[in-house]
Amino acid sequence: MTVPDPLALLEQVVTRRPDPASREQAALLEAELAAAHDVAYAVVVSSGTAALHTALVAAGIGAGDEVLVSAIPVIMTVAAVVLAGARPVFVDTGPDGEPFDVADAASKITSRTRAVLPVHLGGRSGDLQPVVDLAAHTGLHLIEDACQAHGSRYRGWLLGTLGSAGCFSLKDGKLLSCGEGGYLVTNDPDLAARARAFQSHWQTPAPGQPALTRLGTNYRLAEPLAALARLSLAGFDARLARHRHGANRLVHLVGDVPGLTVIPAAPEEQPNGYCAMWRILLPRPRELSGRLAEAGVVNSVGSFGLRAAHQHVACRSLHPAPCPNAAHAADSLLAVPVSLPDSDSSLDDDGRLAWIADLITTEVSAW
Ligand SMILES: *Cc1c(COP(=O)(O)O)cnc(C)c1O
Repeated sequence: MTVPDPLALLEQVVTRRPDPASREQAALLEAELAAAHDVAYAVVVSSGTAALHTALVAAGIGAGDEVLVSAIPVIMTVAAVVLAGARPVFVDTGPDGEPFDVADAASKITSRTRAVLPVHLGGRSGDLQPVVDLAAHTGLHLIEDACQAHGSRYRGWLLGTLGSAGCFSLKDGKLLSCGEGGYLVTNDPDLAARARAFQSHWQTPAPGQPALTRLGTNYRLAEPLAALARLSLAGFDARLARHRHGANRLVHLVGDVPGLTVIPAAPEEQPNGYCAMWRILLPRPRELSGRLAEAGVVNSVGSFGLRAAHQHVACRSLHPAPCPNAAHAADSLLAVPVSLPDSDSSLDDDGRLAWIADLITTEVSAW
């Protein structure tokens, strides 16, 4: 694969007259992403949030519709549903920690429900078959928030490819990245055509349909970023292997610390190693996560404010029903992204992981 120098591309985009048809790098990236996910179509956009919003619009979801969303989403998942004009209805975590309790989901289906939207936090889906079955039996779209799940598999299937559409982020820190960006994957030609139209002002609709007949938006991925994403994709398999190894290694290095218990992957899962995950069994777990973040251990609760949707200030106006299992699961979650820079690191992988493990052990033991 040959990727042009991003600086040469920058020169091109600065000097060229705007032409919506000439997005060569984005088109190549889409073909390579579709092949990598073994799906018919990939549509690249400007962020993971944009991918979620675009997928929902392309699935025909809008005003008056309801979407069943994991009760521990990230705030971007919620924003995307609201941007589409729909109402998020939050689905509790299962009593045994399953990320998406299908019994709770089934009890919340109304005549307005159009989709289920599980969020694969930490690159984990849990046992996804019941969610796939629920969508199939009820005729709902399954749209996966796979923004942290590049390369994760469930029963051999890549996460993001099990339903109507899977949404990914290309933000820095994700397993596939060009700084900022996103994409969705699908096997549905109509959904792909609508997604492609929506992300560029309905300028390029499906063949035979007139252009500019609906309002869309500009979620285009810039050409130099598309070229960087192609480079990132070329190194993906090696990065995935490193992350898988790194996550296992971090768990091993932390070992048995009283007050922490490893959250194992479901037997059908093959996670991507985006995060190492523990359950905190100590008092005031959120404060402990905050303390760990201060000490330098980036983690989802302490660094990024992860919490159950009904406890989010930003979700108040949505009047979410309480999801008690999710509240406990979010508060007690310690998810530590395994950040292994491709280059420019003063420490090698193992030194870096040992440093993080040491901080975790010290802080948790002293709590
Ligand atoms: C990163 C992320 C997003 C949003 O992606 P952006 O590219 O930052 O818009 C959405 N959902 C999850 C689970 C994420 O981790």
